[in-house]
Amino acid sequence: MNEQQLINTRRDFHKYPESAWTEFRTSSLIAERLESLGYRVKAGLDVIDINSVMGRPSEEIINANIARALSQGANKSWLDKLKRYTGVLAELDTGKPGHVVALRFDIDCVEVDEDSSTSHRPFNENFASVNSGCSHSCGHDSHMTIGLGAAEELISMRNNLNGKIKLIFQPGEEGCRGAYAMTQAGIVDDVDYFLAFHIGMGLNSGIFACDSKGYLATTKFDALLTGKPAHAAASPDKGKNALLAACQAALGLHSIAPHSEGNMRINVGTLNAGTGRNVIASSALMKIETRGETQAIADYVYSRSLEILNGAAMMYGAELNIIKAGESPEMKTSPELAKIVKEVVKGLNIFDDVQDLIHVGGSEDAAWFMNRVISHGGQAVYMGLGSNIKAPHHNGKFDIDEGAIINGVKALVSIVKTLAD
Ligand SMILES: [Zn+2]
Ligand SMILES: [Zn+2]
Repeated sequence: MNEQQLINTRRDFHKYPESAWTEFRTSSLIAERLESLGYRVKAGLDVIDINSVMGRPSEEIINANIARALSQGANKSWLDKLKRYTGVLAELDTGKPGHVVALRFDIDCVEVDEDSSTSHRPFNENFASVNSGCSHSCGHDSHMTIGLGAAEELISMRNNLNGKIKLIFQPGEEGCRGAYAMTQAGIVDDVDYFLAFHIGMGLNSGIFACDSKGYLATTKFDALLTGKPAHAAASPDKGKNALLAACQAALGLHSIAPHSEGNMRINVGTLNAGTGRNVIASSALMKIETRGETQAIADYVYSRSLEILNGAAMMYGAELNIIKAGESPEMKTSPELAKIVKEVVKGLNIFDDVQDLIHVGGSEDAAWFMNRVISHGGQAVYMGLGSNIKAPHHNGKFDIDEGAIINGVKALVSIVKTLAD
């Protein structure tokens, strides 16, 4: 694909964003394209361990999103092959000795409305999201575009390549929901070199970072408190107040003592409780996340959270159910691989500045793949691709500098060619 075709591809993905586990149009079109290029393609349930899926929406929502995907131009035959799950794996085996190199691209959008003012280029140029409540405001539309661009380049040079290449298009990165299920399906168990990257992240256009530091281990979970309804005036003592248990818990959770050994975070993001003004609230649902700089700190804040929730539930006689909605471990990376990446990318002479490391906040579930690859003796890095952005990630006014896309393709193709040897 030339630069204009890459931009068109990105704008098509941008217009039809799909959130975690509903990337049906996206997955079907990626699979169709990779198969037509000549890759061996597996998708959906064939690349997912169904028992390791976290934070997937209800079957009704899945049905509605499959129907929407069809109406928005999904590939029907691949849509059927997905078997109600999303994600794509493409393999190119050159048949020649060499290494197994895997690249990972995330494909989901953020659950936030896209800006619709004329100062927002996607709106102005008619490629803003048509799916309400969804937008590619993290830049994953550019990630998968770069993946497809690199796929085309790599297969066109297959006679000059060695080893085996695996292209992973991962669902549900937002909320750390998708990578674990793919890792548990075993798709990186034979990988020697694993590479993932993110666009933007505070790096301006023209900058490339060879690895990252600072991603936090995290657990996302729902806490459902169940009490007992009763007349609020006639028999309040006969009820069990789940709303008060949740409020008590929310304050307790936000007062967990900070950890002496590093950063930690906790957030009660939502709390929905009760059924009516004059009824003792019999249920409360809280959406919570915990994070830590190291696995030990993350484990500390998560286990303290459970103690506080249990304590609050006991105070009000409510029952507590915890449902895990996402998770990512502390990310391990390989400085030796970052050095090789740096040499290759510098040699391309297309970036103004090639940095060793980007310091990031937040969390990234590519860590599941990376840790698995490193645990069996392979190497992994998480790179940064600079792009001036119009607003922070996850903001409805977010937009990228599309000039970064072609440089991303060039960088990945050179890195893979070197590593597969
Ligand atoms: Zn994001
Ligand atoms: Zn992202």
